[in-house]
Amino acid sequence: LFPFLLHWAIARGSGYATLPSVLLLGPSGAGKTSLVTLLERRGPRPSQTHTTQVVHSVELAVADDPSKPPNYRDDLDQSESTASKFLLVDTPGHGKLRGAALDRLHRLAGVATAGDKNKKSKSKEASKLKAVVFLADAAALADQDELSATAAYLYDVLLVLQKRIGTGTGSRHPASVPVLVAANKADLFTALPPALVKSHLEAELSRIRRTRSKALLDSGVGTEDVDAAGAGEQDDWLGEFGTDKFTFDQLKEVVEVEVIGGNIVGEGPGVDKWWAWIADKL
Ligand code: GDP
Repeated sequence: LFPFLLHWAIARGSGYATLPSVLLLGPSGAGKTSLVTLLERRGPRPSQTHTTQVVHSVELAVADDPSKPPNYRDDLDQSESTASKFLLVDTPGHGKLRGAALDRLHRLAGVATAGDKNKKSKSKEASKLKAVVFLADAAALADQDELSATAAYLYDVLLVLQKRIGTGTGSRHPASVPVLVAANKADLFTALPPALVKSHLEAELSRIRRTRSKALLDSGVGTEDVDAAGAGEQDDWLGEFGTDKFTFDQLKEVVEVEVIGGNIVGEGPGVDKWWAWIADKL
């Protein structure tokens, strides 16, 4: 039994290690579980989703056929075409478990967390991270509390990816990881259109950036530590340093961010544009 188990473990381990991955992040209730379920089943089924407590990944595939647009409904096992497999890695969005989701991002992105002893340690998974899908509830973003919570989470995510580009030595910068802000629930009439989702998030990210940099300055760093503090401040500053207004455009050299509307249930544009975005980044 032991050799068999070992063989199984190696096969399983290497299978996972070689697949490119797409990390799914976003606040609780945004629709992550619903999206994973829809893509896994290649179509809607009447079902109840439950709150995600554990990180779970599904293996998906996009057809390698440039002649037609990628379609998540295609059963690639049945078709003749070759396909690229990838892992969609779901994460818990619940506030208490947010740390686990961000740890996962750190590991996948190859960025050391504050708790890591060996800052140089890079996980084998690091180069496999192809993209991040950040799911947001566009129908909830008109509410200031929801907007603040969503933007605070997005800030942390973008900061990890921005720092990641700084972790390369010499000319060996890691490849940048693009982010899709999937503005979900477009079927609801209260949903903000993608352009407004974008501008609301940018305004809120500007506010968060101001608040965080002020907190850093007020944190009682002595004047003799000005240089060190200045460096720390720049490290934790998202986008162009010293600017008043944050825009996603300020990140374009390091993290490409795109906001696209869609919906997982109900009538609307659906998830086709998100799927095409993912297929493009693999
Ligand atoms: P998670 O916490 O991010 O995993 O979110 P869930 O997948 O559990 O979804 C939270 C709730 O939003 C559930 O009741 C879903 O049915 C609902 N939901 C998900 N996507 C949509 C959508 O596109 N439109 C609408 N109206 N509801 C959605």
